[in-house]
Amino acid sequence: MNSDKSNKNPKFKKAVFIDRDGTLIEEVNFLSRVEDLRLFSDTFEAIRLLKKHGFLIIVVTNQSGVGRKIFDEAAMHTIHEKIQTQLDGMIDTFYFCPHLPTENCRCRKPNVGMIENACADFSIDLKNSWMIGDKKIDIETGFNAKSKTALVLTGYGRETEADLERKPDFIAENLLGAVKTITNYKQRTAKEESQLSKF
Ligand SMILES: [Zn+2]
Repeated sequence: MNSDKSNKNPKFKKAVFIDRDGTLIEEVNFLSRVEDLRLFSDTFEAIRLLKKHGFLIIVVTNQSGVGRKIFDEAAMHTIHEKIQTQLDGMIDTFYFCPHLPTENCRCRKPNVGMIENACADFSIDLKNSWMIGDKKIDIETGFNAKSKTALVLTGYGRETEADLERKPDFIAENLLGAVKTITNYKQRTAKEESQLSKF
């Protein structure tokens, strides 16, 4: 498990954990060349809106291409730097898992190692945080971490939607759609929760 950078924050903050390939950027199988990097047209607007609402923005990505030696970590960091440049440095941090599925590590999604790492590096209000992704493993990561979950229909999202047994909190066309719902999401107060439980 690795972190490109981290900033300590003394207050508990809401975070949005965002999958990279197919959610933040266009899906490319084992993306290794910066020339092949494409942000979705509304990614910038989505990230800007999250930032405006005070969310920590954390990218969590399985990059087994590193473990498979298809590309090296340096190539991946170059891509992450380019994403940061295109997003005016608004991503708080990137966590990545370089391992193969067969290594049974704690960090490969749907395991929660990357989220645990984020919680150690930042003070995160996990219950009011979100995991957004296009794959079943992303949604399961959110369930496993006990955060809220949103599926996007970009990347593999449509195949995923057909394949999900347990539904996420909501499904959105794309990242901006998800962010608009999240930033309007009303948090129920403890009093409202107890009122609801009476019925
Ligand atoms: Zn791992």
